[in-house]
Amino acid sequence: MTTVIVIGGGLAGTEAAWQLAERGLEVHLYEMRPHKTTGAHATDRLAELVCSNSLGSKLPDRATGMLQQELHTLQSFLIHCAEKTAVPAGGALAVDREAFGQMVTEAITTHPRIRLIREEMPRIPVDTPTIIASGPLTSLALSDDIARLCGQEYLYFYDALSPIVEASSIDMSIAFTASRYQRGEADEGDYINCPLNKEEYLQLVAALRSAETIELRDFEREDPHFFEGCLPVEQIARRGDDALAFGPMRPVGLRDPRTGKRPHAVVQLRQDNLAGTLYNLVGFQTNIRWAQQKDILRLIPGLQNAQFVRMGQMHRNTFINAPVLLHPTLQFRGRDDLYFAGQITGIEGYAGNIATGLVAAVNLARYLSGQSAWVLPPETMLGALCHYVAHAAEKHFQPMKANFGILPEPPPGTDKHGRKPAQMERARLALQHSLQQLADARLQQPIF
Ligand SMILES: Cc1cc2nc3c(=O)[nH]c(=O)nc-3n(C[C@H](O)[C@H](O)[C@H](O)COP(=O)(O)OP(=O)(O)OC[C@H]3O[C@@H](n4cnc5c(N)ncnc54)[C@H](O)[C@@H]3O)c2cc1C
Repeated sequence: MTTVIVIGGGLAGTEAAWQLAERGLEVHLYEMRPHKTTGAHATDRLAELVCSNSLGSKLPDRATGMLQQELHTLQSFLIHCAEKTAVPAGGALAVDREAFGQMVTEAITTHPRIRLIREEMPRIPVDTPTIIASGPLTSLALSDDIARLCGQEYLYFYDALSPIVEASSIDMSIAFTASRYQRGEADEGDYINCPLNKEEYLQLVAALRSAETIELRDFEREDPHFFEGCLPVEQIARRGDDALAFGPMRPVGLRDPRTGKRPHAVVQLRQDNLAGTLYNLVGFQTNIRWAQQKDILRLIPGLQNAQFVRMGQMHRNTFINAPVLLHPTLQFRGRDDLYFAGQITGIEGYAGNIATGLVAAVNLARYLSGQSAWVLPPETMLGALCHYVAHAAEKHFQPMKANFGILPEPPPGTDKHGRKPAQMERARLALQHSLQQLADARLQQPIF
């Protein structure tokens, strides 16, 4: 029987281990807790939820709801455990975290083909097929080895996420499209620019300075890599009235077509997905609490009605530059029997992390039995996430969670109200079609 190694007994690793074992493979699952801890996990349980106990909305017209539904269809083991240990939470799938972790731990430790090894894996195994699912707090020894394999420049240690808005919610009667004239680098592309006069700028600076921020945790304060290259926007604002106007909000090389003049300051937004439906605020990584963050960012002219698909955040997070390193099957581009899963791929959110464990495991099992790779259709939420991490811009790669903006546009002529239903129905049919093509008995017969 072929043996495979899974590193990390978190959400992605346990889903992967179970899916591999169910396909007849012998799995060695390495989990370093409780001997070595991450600083965020508190127990020795597998699949421990480190923060919220919610896997997100389960409503079918929400992005996480759609993803959960797809995982349900794909016979995800962890989604089954979540449904079994769910607690009342309105429209969300929230679990009793102890019962959830316990159920996963019991199923993994009693599975006849899984051996749980409570040790840190400090190196990437060279002679055994492997899935790396060591999470956002991967141990330093393994991080160093991943950096050696991928190249130091393709491994990141923290998220400095700037907020992302839906392009359709930007007021283009105020904002304008342009690039700075004196740069013109081919890869810079066009930006959407929100111009501010002096009064608007100073009001924004004052709001940023007085905003409440999220406290750093001990393991973040102590981490030598954390924050080394990127300052939160509120910290820049505190350095002086002009700091932002000479920094990320510099107006140099830009003229507001409405006035013909250079604005006092500018917030630039950069296209975030190929379809051009999402834009991120350049240089606006921040630790401001989310509710306040929305209000403050809506002070920016042109963003007064902005719809945010992601708020700005900064936190410790180990992840690789997936567009350079991974196929959409989550296979490593430089080694066929090596896969990545979980947050380390740049896919965020509990449900997304579970999903990547499933995709990596199905594909590794298929690779080992000589079958073709399973590329999920990009019309599905899970396929869109895998497609995103494999094809996003390499230069500014930032993690992404499930959202409707990463799905392909609905057919032309679909009106505003019909968009989501059209995208949902298309995803359902695409997944059905993909499963018919796949001929994987484990995915086609309901077992839960
Ligand atoms: C503080 C914090 C709060 C978060 N809050 C949320 C939230 O509320 N909602 C949300 O959706 N996401 C949250 N996240 C992200 C969250 O971690 C992921 O969604 C999810 O847990 C990641 O799944 P994973 O399987 O990739 O990693 P994990 O679930 O972290 O699993 C990785 C496992 O690998 C083990 N490990 C690491 N290195 C090694 C090694 N070398 N050898 C053996 N074992 C190793 C770790 O001990 C861990 O058990 C949070 C992350 C952090 C750090």
